[in-house]
Amino acid sequence: MIDRPLDATHDPDRRSWVASANLPGADFPVQNLPLGAFRPGPDEPGRLGVAIGDQVLDLPAALEASCLRLPGELSDALMRPSLNALMGLSAERRRVLRRAVAELLIAGSRLARDQATQARVLRRATDIKMLLPVEIGDYSDFYASIHHATRVGSMFRPEQPLLPNYKWVPIGYHGRASSVVVSGAPVLRPQGQTRAGDATAPSFGPTRQLDYELEIGAWIAGGNPLGSPIPITEAEDHLFGVSLLNDWSARDLQSWEYQPLGPFLAKNFATTVSPWVVTLEALTPFRVAAAQRPDGDPAPLPYLDGVENRDRGGISLTLEVTLRSAAMLARGLEPMRLSLSNFRHMYWTLAQLVTHHASNGCNLRPGDLIGSGTVSGPEPTEAGCLLELTWRGQRPLTLPSGEQRTFLEAGDQLTLRGWGEAPGRTRIGLGECQGTVMDRR
Ligand code: MN
Repeated sequence: MIDRPLDATHDPDRRSWVASANLPGADFPVQNLPLGAFRPGPDEPGRLGVAIGDQVLDLPAALEASCLRLPGELSDALMRPSLNALMGLSAERRRVLRRAVAELLIAGSRLARDQATQARVLRRATDIKMLLPVEIGDYSDFYASIHHATRVGSMFRPEQPLLPNYKWVPIGYHGRASSVVVSGAPVLRPQGQTRAGDATAPSFGPTRQLDYELEIGAWIAGGNPLGSPIPITEAEDHLFGVSLLNDWSARDLQSWEYQPLGPFLAKNFATTVSPWVVTLEALTPFRVAAAQRPDGDPAPLPYLDGVENRDRGGISLTLEVTLRSAAMLARGLEPMRLSLSNFRHMYWTLAQLVTHHASNGCNLRPGDLIGSGTVSGPEPTEAGCLLELTWRGQRPLTLPSGEQRTFLEAGDQLTLRGWGEAPGRTRIGLGECQGTVMDRR
C-alpha cells in the first residue's frame, strides 16, 4: 500500500489568499484541492481545474502564465480535456502536482500578490460549466454495505436476508459507463418491464419505483495489465480519488429482472457523479480502521486481508442526501434530509474492492469508475436509499410540504453531499451530486 503520510499540504494552519476557501464549512479549502474538468463557455473544449473556495484554478492557464511549473509529463496531462492522462501517471507525480498547486494557492505565495495573473488563472465556479471529470472506460458497482444488503435482503428473503456468500466475496456487477452523467444533468424516468405482485404477466411502462442510492465513486489510477492481479498491499496505488455517486435505480424493474444475472436495465438509465475528484492524498486525515467485523464473522480470505487494510483501509466521510420537491421549491421550503450516513461503515474497503475486481486478472484502466454500493449505516436514519427508508414503499415519508413519498416523483431534486472531519484537521468536502427527476412527456 502506498504511503500517503500527512504532510505540509494538510497543515490546518494553512490559509489561502482566496478568501472563500477559508470560511468555516467550505468544501474546498487549500487542504483539499480536488480536480475536475470544466467548460469556460458554451462552445469551448473542456479544461482541467482545481476547486478553491468558490473559485476554480484553470490549470492550463496557470501553466501558460508560468505561475505553475511542472515536469513535462505532468503538464502534458493537465492540458488534456479530462483527467485520464493524469490518472495514468504515478502516485509520486500526482503528489508533485498537489504540492505545487498548494504552494500557488496558500496565503503569502507570489500569486497572492499578483492580481493581474490571478485574473488570468482563476474563474468563478458559477461562471463555468462542470463536465464529467473523466472519460470513463468501464464502470462496476459493488454492494459493500452489509447494513444495506441485510435490510434489502430481509424484504425480499425474510428467511435468509444475507446470502451465504456475502461475508466472503465482495458482490458487484458490471454497470454501464455510457450513462454516467455529471451532477446537474436531468434524470429521465425510465420505462421498462415490471410485474405487479399478483399479475400473471408483466407490462411495459414508466417505473413507479424510482429510487436513489447514496454511494461513493472511486476512480482508478495506474491500471494493471490483463492477467495481472493487484495485491491488496498495492490496491491503493490504483486509487486516484473519490466522488459522490448516485446510482439511480428502478426498483420494480430490478425485482423483475435481477435473477439470475443481477441488475441490468434497472440501473443503467442514469448514474450521477459529482464533478470534483477528491484525491486519496487529500483524504489522509480521515483514514480510519476498516469496519470491525462482528464476532463470529469469517476473516477475509488472505488475498483480501492485510494489516494496513485493517488498520487504515476505512475512510470516515459523512454522507448526506436531501430532497426538495417541486412544491417545496415553489413554496421556498428548505430541502429535507433523507439520509445521513458514513462511509466508514462499509463491510469491504475500497482496497478490497479493487483487489477483488482484479483478482481473476481483469485489467482495470485509469479512469475506470467503481461504485461502493449504497452506503447505509447500522441505524435506520443511516439508510442510503428510499427502498430501505420506506420499507419498499410500505411506510411513506411526509415532506415539509405535506406531500408523501414512497419513491421519487417528477420535479424531485436529490442532492448528495459528503465531507471529512477529524479533530485538529481542516474539514474538506466532496461538493454536490445533484439530479432532478423528469417524466417523459
Ligand atoms: Mn448501487
